[in-house]
Order: sequence, then C-alpha cells, then structure tokens
Amino acid sequence: MTTPRILNGNAIAAQIKAEVAAEVEQLAAQGIRPGLAAVLVGNVPASEIYVRSKVRTSGQLGIYSDLITPPDTVTTEEMLELVAQLNAREDIDGILIQLPLPKQVNAKLLLEAVSPAKDVDGFHPVNVGRLQAGQPALAPCTPAGMIQMLKRSNLPIAGKNAVVIGRSDIVGKPISILLLHENATVTICHSKTRDLGSYTRNADILVAAIGRPGYVTPDLVKPGATILDVGINRITSREEFDKYFAGDKKREETFVLKGSTIVGDVHPEAFKIAGAYTPVPGGVGPLTIAMLMANTVRAAKLRRGLAV
Ligand code: NAP
Repeated sequence: MTTPRILNGNAIAAQIKAEVAAEVEQLAAQGIRPGLAAVLVGNVPASEIYVRSKVRTSGQLGIYSDLITPPDTVTTEEMLELVAQLNAREDIDGILIQLPLPKQVNAKLLLEAVSPAKDVDGFHPVNVGRLQAGQPALAPCTPAGMIQMLKRSNLPIAGKNAVVIGRSDIVGKPISILLLHENATVTICHSKTRDLGSYTRNADILVAAIGRPGYVTPDLVKPGATILDVGINRITSREEFDKYFAGDKKREETFVLKGSTIVGDVHPEAFKIAGAYTPVPGGVGPLTIAMLMANTVRAAKLRRGLAV
C-alpha cells in the first residue's frame, strides 16, 4: 500500500487568500473596497474565536470589516433592524451572522432577511436555489472550500463515486450538490441510512460531515479513496485520546499542554488506507475562512455588475 497523500488545507487556503488580496488590490485601483460586517451575538467562546479570526483575515487581505456585537439579550426585532441597516449600507458587501444565536432569536427569519446579494455564507434560500440550479451564486464556504481542495490538488471528481455522510444545510447538502455539478455520482447518507458501509466502501471520494469523533473506521473505507473530513470534535479525556492517538507523540505533547485536542469524524486509522485525506486540524477548516474572503470579494463585484 502506498503512503496516503495529506491534503494541506493551510497551504491551499494561503493560495486562495493571496489571490483574494490581489483582487482586492485591483478593486482598490477602481476605488472599491470590499466590506464585511461580522455580527457576533453574546459571549460564545468558540464563536468569538471564529469571528475574530475572520475579522483579522479580512484586515490582512485589505477587506474592510465591521465587527458588531449585540448582547445575548438581543431580540429578533432588534436583529432584524440591524440586518436592514447592513443591507442598506453601501460600504458593506457581505453580512456574516455567526451561529449559533441565542434561543430567543429566530435564526431562520434573520438569515432570510439578509439580502441575497450580501449573503456571503450562502445560507439564504435564494442562494440555495441558485446553487441547486447551477447559477452563479454565493456558495456556502466550507463546501466551496472542499471543491477547491480537490481541484487544486488535481484530484479528479468527474465520474467518481462520491459518498457524503451527513445532510446538514451547511455542509452535507451543499457539498453533495457541488460534487454533482462536478459530475460525480453522489450518494448522501445520514443517521437513518442502513448498512452505511455498503455505500461508503464504494466511495472514491468520501466526505464525513457527521459531528461524531472518529466515527468513520477503516472498515468503512475503500482502499485508496480520497477522504474529506469536515468534523471538528474536541476531546479532553485521556481515554478518548488513547482511542484515537495512542503512540502519536507529537499530538500527545499538545494534548498534555492544552488539556484537549481536536479529532475529526474519521478515525486516524482509517486515513492510513486512504489515497489522500484532509487532516484535522489543518485540512478543511482553514479553507472555510479563505472562501468567506473570496465570497466577500465576489459579492462586491456582483453587486457592482463586474465580471467574476
Ligand atoms: P449537523 O448539522 O449536526 O449534521 C450532522 C449530520 O450527520 C446529519 O445529517 C446526521 O443525520 C448525520 N449523522 C449523525 N449521526 C450519523 C450516523 N451515525 N451515521 C450517519 N450519519 C449520521 O452537523 P454539520 O453542521 O454538518 O457539521 C458536521 C461536522 O462538521 C461537525 O463536527 C462540525 O463541527 C463540523 N464543521 C466543520 C466546519 C469547518 O469549517 N471545518 C464547518 C461546519 C461544520 P440526520 O440528518 O439523519 O440527523
């Protein structure tokens, strides 16, 4: 068996970000500065980390950003008012509302209130519909990043059997549509799927977007397959660590130092029989922010009728 190829998300994200920075420079020459509004409600630590990283990356690429931080007592009406203001602002091309939102806020109503032209997360039903119809759209960032990962790694998609485990609106469904547009033969599995392995063992491209640590074990994988592991699961117990990473000295050092580590939805043993795979961390994750930046520039151009 050959050594599997590790698909380096950090390197591909850096490539995409460099391209975005070059586009931002070209737009600046025309007097245009793409702008992103990031709305962070309350004090969810993980959300704070994600949003700050998005704001920081915007700055690095020359994209204007405005961080708006309503308190966790905010009402749906107040959020709708905020979205209306952002929709109307000329300096804002992209609106990002970090999820999850507090219980009292009607998230669905809010996401539908974002102008489809500024919906850089690609969650608005208009963009979902456009994506499905194969029309130019703002595609959700994580799935769009996964397609970039395959293409930029010269991994063919057309004619391949792609199996997606997970059918969320954010990952599973949109990546299935994007793979279909790239002419893969796509199967979508979920928690009610019977005999999961009978599908996944046929996958040339296997996408795991489940949210369960190490769920995809070697017996579920076709030898030589390309595995895209979307899962981000934090583990803190020694027992869990040993289950996934026993003998991994480098990983153990960070685990001891931090008291936790991240494991994907794919068991590290399953990667060993893959042809190529995205590691966790450092695989799919970094592409999400890179694609958000790319979407913001795309939205800025589309809104002004410029070619994308
Ligand atoms: P989600 O909304 O919870 O969806 C999980 C999906 O997995 C559901 O469709 C569910 O099926 C399916 N599932 C659950 N248990 C299963 C089982 N035993 N067998 C087969 N399918 C099963 O999660 P998500 O938002 O798609 O996220 C998935 C993972 O990706 C999470 O770990 C999340 O943190 C991570 N994520 C990472 C990024 C990134 O940037 N890298 C971005 C987004 C999400 P049902 O529909 O039948 O319930």
